[in-house]
Amino acid sequence: MSTSEQAKETAPWGSQFTDHMVTARYEPEQGWSDLTVTKYQPLQLDPSTSVLHYGQAIFEGLKAYHQPDGSVSVFRPEQNAARFARSAHRLAMAELPEELFLESLRLLVNEDRDRVPTQSGESLYLRPLEIASDARLLTQPSLSYLYVLMASPVADYFQHGVHPVRVWLSTEYSRAMPGGTGAAKCAGNYAAAMLAQKQGAEQGCDQVVWLDSVEHRFVEEMGGMNLFFVFSGNRLVTPQLTGTLLPGVTRDSILTLGEDLGLQVEERLISTDEWEQSVADGSLLEVFACGTAAIITPVGEVRHPNGSFVIGDGGSGELTMRLRETLLGIQQGTVADVHNWMRHIA
Ligand SMILES: *Cc1c(COP(=O)(O)O)cnc(C)c1O
Repeated sequence: MSTSEQAKETAPWGSQFTDHMVTARYEPEQGWSDLTVTKYQPLQLDPSTSVLHYGQAIFEGLKAYHQPDGSVSVFRPEQNAARFARSAHRLAMAELPEELFLESLRLLVNEDRDRVPTQSGESLYLRPLEIASDARLLTQPSLSYLYVLMASPVADYFQHGVHPVRVWLSTEYSRAMPGGTGAAKCAGNYAAAMLAQKQGAEQGCDQVVWLDSVEHRFVEEMGGMNLFFVFSGNRLVTPQLTGTLLPGVTRDSILTLGEDLGLQVEERLISTDEWEQSVADGSLLEVFACGTAAIITPVGEVRHPNGSFVIGDGGSGELTMRLRETLLGIQQGTVADVHNWMRHIA
């Protein structure tokens, strides 16, 4: 094993970065300016910097993939650009124009092109971040903002084979409430989720499933991923976007791929009772979660305060794996990109 292979094996996901980053600044007078590539380096922040106190911080996550012809393409970056702007709007932050967002990706991936991994399942994970940069303790939206784009070469999320997760239904804590920030990709949502994640781990679970915050009855998401339910009769169901769910790009793509496969695709409310009962009566065959980092993760077992149940044989479902291979194939350029999702950038 070479040293770089060893590093890949041992470095935790997202802990290694390329040599460069891209930054841009927003000032009320000039708007956005100074989009530049620099060496990857620490940020210098005054202790009074607004983001450290009041949490105006948003981010994105998307991947650049090595293509069979040697070029590099990114999966649906306009979707992330649009969501980044929507997140900014919700947190009363300056919205980065889509063209600057896309230009920052082009700049960094071209600069660190030799760090785009080439093996199947590997990719260059791109992490755009925007923070409030005013140095003052006034509790008002910051006037100035800092945009930073960093990149992390990542191995296949499931280096040792796809394995199903065990999930904890969080009936005590909530991730998002009506009128809140659940649909924005903001740092605070993750901070608010960590105690429940810890509680789930104490129950022997890998992930937490979030329920609606009013009745704790309807299924929303799993950790930082959206959920799908495969019912008999070729029905593919995902929780509808109520305003408290994060609208995933992967979720949207799987809805389209499901239609391509001739499945009956539904976005609707699904309760924890329906989940447990339809597993018991055999009509719910597979459950999986989806998101940029892991693409698709099978859900094998559910635990909640009053018991637990296993989905199917607890393994990875057939349709789950078929969708995973199709999506990864499109991203890696080995399956036809009929929906024109891939953007060549380097
Ligand atoms: C980012 C995220 C997702 C998945 O979105 P993708 O665009 O598919 O990566 C789902 N839920 C939450 C809470 C997220 O932050």
